[in-house]
Amino acid sequence: CGIFGVIGVTDAANFVALGLHALQHRGQEAGGIVSHHPDHGFNNARRFGYVRDNFTSQKLMETLPGPLAIGHVRYSTAGSKGQTQIRDVQPFFGEFSMGGAAIAHNGNITNADALRRELIERGSIFQSSSDSECIIHLMARSLQRNIPERMEDALRRVEGAFSVVAMTRTKLIGVRDPLGVRPLVLGKLGDGWALSSETCALDIIGAEYVREIDPGEMVVITAEHGVESIRPFRPQKSRFCIFEHVYFSRPDSIIGDRSVYETRRQIGVELARETPIEADLVCPVPDSGTPAAIGYAHESGIPYGMGIIRNQYMGRTFIEPTEQIRNMGVRLKLNVNRALIKGKRVVLVDDSVVRGTTSRKIKEMILDAGAAEVHFRIASPPTAWPCFYGVDTPQREKLLAATMSEDEMREHLGVDSLKFISLDGLYRAVGEASGRDPKSPQYCDACFSGEYPVEPSDMLEKGFQM
Ligand code: 5GP
Ligand code: SF4
Ligand code: MG
Repeated sequence: CGIFGVIGVTDAANFVALGLHALQHRGQEAGGIVSHHPDHGFNNARRFGYVRDNFTSQKLMETLPGPLAIGHVRYSTAGSKGQTQIRDVQPFFGEFSMGGAAIAHNGNITNADALRRELIERGSIFQSSSDSECIIHLMARSLQRNIPERMEDALRRVEGAFSVVAMTRTKLIGVRDPLGVRPLVLGKLGDGWALSSETCALDIIGAEYVREIDPGEMVVITAEHGVESIRPFRPQKSRFCIFEHVYFSRPDSIIGDRSVYETRRQIGVELARETPIEADLVCPVPDSGTPAAIGYAHESGIPYGMGIIRNQYMGRTFIEPTEQIRNMGVRLKLNVNRALIKGKRVVLVDDSVVRGTTSRKIKEMILDAGAAEVHFRIASPPTAWPCFYGVDTPQREKLLAATMSEDEMREHLGVDSLKFISLDGLYRAVGEASGRDPKSPQYCDACFSGEYPVEPSDMLEKGFQM
């Protein structure tokens, strides 16, 4: 998901809509905005579909007045059951004795089932099926006297991954979980401030990137006093999601002080060093494979070309929720550039193989177009484990790499060769010169290693085997 908030500007919701538009790649199912105006109180709008199709209407935006607003773009993750309902769309809102508060959450709470059971038993009335709603109910039960303190209380009970943007009548609040699994950054916007999942959304509103919110940090921002920083959690070594670098974030974002584009290009360089091949053409699977393909071509000296053309009017394939739509999706979205491919030995670079659906279809299309050989090069290690921290990977059984060896996968996909970057190679590409520290890994890489930095307790209860 993507989260965004703004304080201290006229018509904050307009800025939030723009920010969410820049974060659309993080969630395409639905979006929502809550604003607050001193005379009009809290207002909210939640809609299915793209930001640009909803939050561009003047009529709608006029219903969201005020100098303070937050928003969310949703993409349903592992825990969600069935079709999203509008009541599952964030931000969530709660009314407390000291006033209202709204929250938008990116990540996944790994003990949400247990918390929900406990809260319902004690009288909470849930409105949605979302794990994130627990936070509001935990806040309601807290005995603290102000909302930021209630939020601290609530988040100390929550396990898993969370970046949160929240607001009260006068405050914009941002929090990252102690491991800092999901991103959150701070920006300065004229006299006001912005919080965003990624820096690309600060760029679109002309805000200046100030810094990341630290893992385990809470910032409370007011128009008068600016940013106050609090550390509600016991300090731990951070474990940022390495897959944000590979795929999830936009290439024009900055993570830490690294350009995501440059990291991805470097992944391609490492991949070319680790898995060389004689070929005539390096092609990305657009768009997610593009920077890595550029790096691969550069390092290998094999010419780069656009052998696959993407229809710009389709979204990301994997966010489409059903298998049937996903299967069609590949052809609706990608087509082969026959004139370039014909007779060539082609290296195809993609970011990841999950179910293998995309790769299989693409291989067929490339061979139909007359390619002599097809070699897959993948910018991440085999995805053998599901993510429980906010990225939508299917159940373990559906992951190709969970049930097949690399050679079996090559056979299954029907390609001449298939190679993945090593975990160490990936760590080098993100800037860890000596690779992964096996005793204390610098990142979360559970979907590749099976080493979960936070025990996925709800899933273990459901029978998941680590
Ligand atoms: P597959 O077709 O193998 O199931 O999905 C792989 C494609 O989905 C890749 O091209 C990749 O861009 C995209 N994808 C990337 N990340 C993820 C993810 O976390 N989960 C899923 N399901 N697909 C992803
Ligand atoms: Fe990221 Fe993978 Fe960890 Fe999920 S399991 S947070 S996708 S590195
Ligand atoms: Mg892709």
